[in-house]
Amino acid sequence: MPVFRPRPRASAPLRLATLAALLAFVAPAGTSCSGGSSSRGGGAPPVGVPVDDVLLYPFVGSKSVLMIVVSFQDGPALFPTTAEGENKVRAIRDDVVDAYDKDSYGTLSLDIDYTWPPLLIDKKMSDYSPTSALVHVRADAIAAAKKAGYDVDSYDREVLFSPKVWPSGARGWIRTAWMPHTLRWVLVHELGHTLSRGHADFWDGIPNGAGTRVEYGDIFDPMGSGQLWSRRLVSNPWFKLRAGWLDPSDILTVEQTGRYTLTSLENPDPTEGPTAIRIRRDGMSDYWLMYRSTEPLAADGPIIVRATTNPYDPTYLLDMTRGQVANEVEDAALGRGQTFDDAATNGITVTNVSQPGDPFLTLDITVDAARQLALDLPPRIDVLSPPRDAGPVSGVVDFEVASSDLDVDDTNGAGIQKVTMNLFLPSQDPPPVLASQEFLAPPYKMSFDTAAGTTPDNFYYLEVISEGADGGQNQVWFRVIIDNYTGTLP
Ligand SMILES: [Zn+2]
Repeated sequence: MPVFRPRPRASAPLRLATLAALLAFVAPAGTSCSGGSSSRGGGAPPVGVPVDDVLLYPFVGSKSVLMIVVSFQDGPALFPTTAEGENKVRAIRDDVVDAYDKDSYGTLSLDIDYTWPPLLIDKKMSDYSPTSALVHVRADAIAAAKKAGYDVDSYDREVLFSPKVWPSGARGWIRTAWMPHTLRWVLVHELGHTLSRGHADFWDGIPNGAGTRVEYGDIFDPMGSGQLWSRRLVSNPWFKLRAGWLDPSDILTVEQTGRYTLTSLENPDPTEGPTAIRIRRDGMSDYWLMYRSTEPLAADGPIIVRATTNPYDPTYLLDMTRGQVANEVEDAALGRGQTFDDAATNGITVTNVSQPGDPFLTLDITVDAARQLALDLPPRIDVLSPPRDAGPVSGVVDFEVASSDLDVDDTNGAGIQKVTMNLFLPSQDPPPVLASQEFLAPPYKMSFDTAAGTTPDNFYYLEVISEGADGGQNQVWFRVIIDNYTGTLP
């Protein structure tokens, strides 16, 4: 299989194949041969390994979760140590298993154990410093679970049900969810964060113009704020694709003007149409069109979400009907006969021409085909180290990333002018940068001693900015936990 994939400019099917390749995992190193000619003027093709995409993070098959219920000397567990308390734990477990089963179309099966009775951590809640409490309570809870005989390391995720010893609310970071209360829908949301998802927000304003960000405002998504349990069961197709719950072949990337059908996101029927429609908006973002067939507020037309290539950027539910209802999000869908007109800026219009009673939507979509073909493919970024699910890091850490510009080639460094890595602490504004380095060629590798100086145990981001020689740019934030405390535990 040739590594070099020239970017097709004339053939729509080939172009689709390229986008599918962008979304699919590349072959592992060693299964490809190098070859082809460089589009940059006849030089030797870059050598190296193909670059995976940090955005794509399959979470499918059987995955195990340990819910660790803890108490402190001065703080009781969130559940009483009674049969009723245990039943409450079980009910949360069963609901979360069911939510992920439905959202993943049965491709993800969560196997959730829980510690019972609650584990007493031999500390007071007041012993934790606000800065490091999240990291240290995690470490203490895991140590307590291990002491009680649980093989914590064998699980794919852990959930801490703990009295609130940290300043913020519930959290999800890398492989851990922190729950200071027992709200099941919040746990679904926090586990979503452990799948590298950001928040599903609402853009309260003109869909492609002025407006206000409403954080959590996408009421239809588990990463937003919908209060109905039914809304916790259906993630947007961008999240589903990245988790491996949708296949790239389930999604149609529209590159030509035409009439398209769209099947239900909740109950897809491939004979009726794709499960989602993606329209590239610009070099960094896409419109995602989905049919929420079980959602009363969106029964007649698609909802449209704008998403970027940065996994921690929010996704934005766009408002297709301004000024009709007090709560703008409630008529965000594009009703029958309505048109979303983004022709002036991005050459795109979407008109809902669906017929009442059809089990699918019908949409007339116009795009500027020449513009679509000319859109830049942003650099692809992968984080090679630290490993994604490995949990916290300590001591000297090698942060290593790979990047390639798919307009040129998929091997590390191809078409990349500069890679910048910043390690920063997101909980302060402006965020303090602990380490920063720029690279003009691979390896893109930055070493940092987390134990030297006064780096607090906390949550951090590794920011990776990759700039293509063609001007395209991509940026991802990769979650990091620094924990130099666990190593001091007996
Ligand atoms: Zn959140």
